[in-house]
Amino acid sequence: MTETDSQDTKGIVFNFLIELGCCKRCALRFVGDSNTNYDNPTDDVKKLTRKDLGQNSNDENVFKKSKPNPCIICLDLLQDTTLQTMILNPELEKVLEYDSDTFVNYVSLPKAVLIREHSMEICVKEKFPQFFKDRNVIALNRAWSLSIQNKLAQRLEKKYDKNSYLQIQFNTSYVLDKEESLVMLLLEDKSRKHSIQHDPLSCKNVTSSLQTINSELFKQKVSIPPATPTKALDVEQVFYKHDHVFIAGRYCKYARNMFQTPWSGDDIQVEISSVQEKIFDHIENSFSCSAMVFSSSGREDFDVRTLGRGRPFFIKICDPKRTKVSFEKFRQIEQAVKHTKVVEVRDLQFIDRRYLSNIKEGEQFKKKTYRALCIVDKPENLTAYIDKINNISAVTLQQKTPLRVYHRRSSDIRERQIYSLKAKVINGKKNLLELDMITQAGTYIKEFVHGDLGRTTPSLCEIVGGYIDIIALDVLDIHLDFPPSINHKVKNHQTVNY
Ligand SMILES: [Zn+2]
Repeated sequence: MTETDSQDTKGIVFNFLIELGCCKRCALRFVGDSNTNYDNPTDDVKKLTRKDLGQNSNDENVFKKSKPNPCIICLDLLQDTTLQTMILNPELEKVLEYDSDTFVNYVSLPKAVLIREHSMEICVKEKFPQFFKDRNVIALNRAWSLSIQNKLAQRLEKKYDKNSYLQIQFNTSYVLDKEESLVMLLLEDKSRKHSIQHDPLSCKNVTSSLQTINSELFKQKVSIPPATPTKALDVEQVFYKHDHVFIAGRYCKYARNMFQTPWSGDDIQVEISSVQEKIFDHIENSFSCSAMVFSSSGREDFDVRTLGRGRPFFIKICDPKRTKVSFEKFRQIEQAVKHTKVVEVRDLQFIDRRYLSNIKEGEQFKKKTYRALCIVDKPENLTAYIDKINNISAVTLQQKTPLRVYHRRSSDIRERQIYSLKAKVINGKKNLLELDMITQAGTYIKEFVHGDLGRTTPSLCEIVGGYIDIIALDVLDIHLDFPPSINHKVKNHQTVNY
């Protein structure tokens, strides 16, 4: 087939579709190629318009015939008036509040449109088998996106990008949708396994049924080509949201009366601030987000401090309107948190979601360094106790769920490792010792010291053959390099661009 022949055939198919009652963009979807201009299809349409219409072959007259009724496939989704209604939706004004430079747009389709599309495909493939032998019809939602994205870009002052984190979804409805899609109940593949919630008329199920449906059966039940509709679809709400972004850092906690996250348990509300709140207070405004979710590498008890490099954490920031947070802004947030005097944050930065699993992976096996202040029963035994502790290099513990957390954890026995132990006297204190330990994550330190009524074995009490209790505990290090440390001299640390 020569190029001219091909163009002639395209014209014949195009006009066939127009005469059946398709809109110009739907007709183009069946004959167009990657160069088709859906945004402004006038030139493409002119090339394909029937020559025998002579001087009447302008848009208005060619489409006069189809004007009284909506497009038999898209129910006017691709018509200029519908696109214009979408663009003028006042809700889009709120999308301007997002600082994202890009957007991506979607549309929900009535099921009747999917059925109509399938019917039309069968119709044209039977009528023009040779032409459609190796041709893919451009999907309706793809053509819609191409038709509207330039106009949306102008309206939103942002560029279209299929990978954008800012998603805009237009929902449509069709008053006769249920009536027209009921036919799918007759065509349903009965061999498919049905769940309790199985709804054969859900959009997803209609789409997948149409992919596998027997054409002969379909033709018996559904009009080929689709019947002329009397109603067009309606444009309902527009939804928009920015995908989550993640920031990470390390925090130190200097207070011995602070939870990591707001405490609410056993129906008791406690008016005590938390590490999470101290950090969130200074982050929310910078991102103007709808919600934040805090995650960390383990957690310390209410009365335990976290010192040294601090504890790795990340925050999921939901639907942020602002994502252009600079290196300097992160440093300002760190300074503001520092002013609380009880919490400090470092290495605050954007983090790609691919790296988030690093914080959870190997949580059982990573190491932690602790320092405990302990009191002994008999001051005269202090030196002997310290010697006994310093004579052992490592200990394997069996720990039953501690009594203090028994009410909220299931009972089990954990094996945990103490990798090193070092005790020393504290100047001038006859009944106190300082104990430095490197342990496996998840070790219950307080229980290791006092034994928890025999629930942790061996305990420090067993090791020294006396009684030792813990007065204060600090986490000195969590041996996990997350996130990358910030070099304050180099300001290009933003690993993620939204
Ligand atoms: Zn159409």
